[in-house]
Amino acid sequence: MAARDRTIETLIERLSRLPGVGPKTAERLAFHLLRVERDEALALAHAIEAVRAAVKNCSICFQLDASDPCGVCGDETRERDMLLVIEDPREVARFEDIGYRGVYHVLQGRLSPVEGVRPEDLTIAQLLQRVEQGSFREVCLATNPDLEGEGTAQLLAEKLAASGAKVTRLARGLPAGSSIAQVSSSILSDAIEGRRPLS
Ligand SMILES: [Zn+2]
Repeated sequence: MAARDRTIETLIERLSRLPGVGPKTAERLAFHLLRVERDEALALAHAIEAVRAAVKNCSICFQLDASDPCGVCGDETRERDMLLVIEDPREVARFEDIGYRGVYHVLQGRLSPVEGVRPEDLTIAQLLQRVEQGSFREVCLATNPDLEGEGTAQLLAEKLAASGAKVTRLARGLPAGSSIAQVSSSILSDAIEGRRPLS
């Protein structure tokens, strides 16, 4: 039996690298892309190309935006002495939705001994430098309330202790093990309202 075309195999292999996509799903997606209209399939490729060309990491806070500095860092009306440290650029929208008016620092992940994510893989050095050079009244550690998020917050609290900034954590109202991306806006609102100092 002839082997499957190499270009199809390559597409399946590429798709299977996406988070949450196993080999079976990758195969289904690949054959779907071969079955739909050519323009429909290519629109996906073009959308990937366009977003990669337009969107970049802000050189100050590391969130994703079409401009650098991003819309938040460039906005003079924000509370520039309030810094919210988050794991993922997707979480910016959650905090914007509940009316947060300070600025952000995106870690681009969290520490994970299991997955081999080390402090140097995150934007921790840039955070420490920012806090050292800036005049933040408060640095709130808004990593997720799960094991790895708590571990990351713990390390950051230790490293920030000498900075002189008040270091806080989101309130305990966030269900343990939940994620900021998924909790309701009211719970997230309460969590930021009731943030607590970390010693
Ligand atoms: Zn920014």
